[in-house]
Amino acid sequence: MNTVRAFRMSSVLLGAALSACVQPTPRPADNPAGSAEAHVARARQLAGADLGYLMRLCQPQPAERATPSAAMDDGMRKLIARPAPAPMQVFDNLYFVGGDWVSAWLLKTSDGLILIDALNNAEEAAAVIEGGMARLGLDPRQIKYIVVTHGHGDHYGGAGYLVGKYRPRVVASEADWNMMHGQLEFDSAAWDRPPARDMAVRDGDKLTLGDTTLTFQVTTGHTLGTLSPTFDVRTGGRTHHALLWGGTSFNFGKDFSRLRSYSANTERMRALTAQTGIDVFLSNHSEWDGSIEKMNRLRGGGASGSHPFVVGPQTVDRALQVMDECARAQADRFGFP
Ligand SMILES: [Zn+2]
Repeated sequence: MNTVRAFRMSSVLLGAALSACVQPTPRPADNPAGSAEAHVARARQLAGADLGYLMRLCQPQPAERATPSAAMDDGMRKLIARPAPAPMQVFDNLYFVGGDWVSAWLLKTSDGLILIDALNNAEEAAAVIEGGMARLGLDPRQIKYIVVTHGHGDHYGGAGYLVGKYRPRVVASEADWNMMHGQLEFDSAAWDRPPARDMAVRDGDKLTLGDTTLTFQVTTGHTLGTLSPTFDVRTGGRTHHALLWGGTSFNFGKDFSRLRSYSANTERMRALTAQTGIDVFLSNHSEWDGSIEKMNRLRGGGASGSHPFVVGPQTVDRALQVMDECARAQADRFGFP
């Protein structure tokens, strides 16, 4: 679960060209006085104009995790009620069928569809996922797998409904299956119950369907078993490498091991980006990848001919560094070493 987007960047069009000129200051040391502010300042410099939406991650977070309440349920229902963006084919083989707040991505393979996240509940899965697929000419009976990026209800809530209707397999990490069928970290009356336990994957595991392979990176932090899949996307006769970061915000309270793990995983994914040329950075919430703005730009065409979701490895690397700096700032606010 992430908090509501407070604003939308209007300056993403400035693009990576400007920020590529920025020479960020070296990473500040952790924990001395004022270091949280220094990490935030470095994050802001790294983010530049094009990744400005990521700066919300640097806002101070409470030491206690939110507990279920009528007010939280009400807030969740308001988020769900926001009109969904028009569903869209974003790449030759990747479709957006998500809501305004939480995303669902559909990967098309030569042997069926892989749905990444299932939204909050059956009603939303029917209206937004099935409804979106109908508008895009896609058949939900072709969904062979649902990947649940992490065990919070905004990502698994619609899965049980889709499983009941179309019988896809459901994939999550071992840790998050355990959480979903043990003690939920978060709950809301707006969410349907977790799907029945199915396939568990570990870091580095691959899922192949037809001509497409997903590789699961376990990026522990947001939850203990957050899955961040990597996969190829195609457009204009070219293949690009995508990383979908599976859980972004620090809504787990005062927990040093999670913040440290979060930072370590951003560094691990930076190394993977350098190694494999990841040039598309996606999220399961539009507030963390600017997907709604990017889809609007894609719909509008544009003279440059560049694809708004293909940002290049340097920008993916900057995004991961911004997230790392925000995690370090939060650790310093809690006084962690
Ligand atoms: Zn979450």
